[in-house]
Amino acid sequence: MENCLFCKIVSRDIPADIIHEDDQVIAFRDVNPQAPVHVLIVPHRHISTVNDLTDKDQSLTGHMILTAGQIALQSGIDDSGYRLIMNCNQEGGQTVFHIHLHLLGGRQLTHLG
Ligand code: AMP
Repeated sequence: MENCLFCKIVSRDIPADIIHEDDQVIAFRDVNPQAPVHVLIVPHRHISTVNDLTDKDQSLTGHMILTAGQIALQSGIDDSGYRLIMNCNQEGGQTVFHIHLHLLGGRQLTHLG
């Protein structure tokens, strides 16, 4: 997608603090971190919102969650705990329309809302 920020990070047209990449996803630190560990796990393929996922994406979405778990382990927050979030559309708080999984941890997180 021509004007997609996260596609530009995937293609290295925009820099990011990349901490992991494999054949399906890239993971980089959020530029405006809300916790000591705040990483975004992003598929290479452009998918605008969670609403656009189909049955064919089950493996990809599972891979995103497993990747987040590996990064949590590497970051030393697996035991203390962390939160995984995917925001969808305006009222869900989505601001970048290329799906991404937030990994947040390293402090006591408050209740959702
Ligand atoms: P969301 O609001 O769920 O769509 O999350 C988008 C996230 O992308 C926000 O937490 C932003 O801080 C983050 N973000 C925006 N631009 C960049 C960037 N260039 N590099 C890293 N993270 C970014």
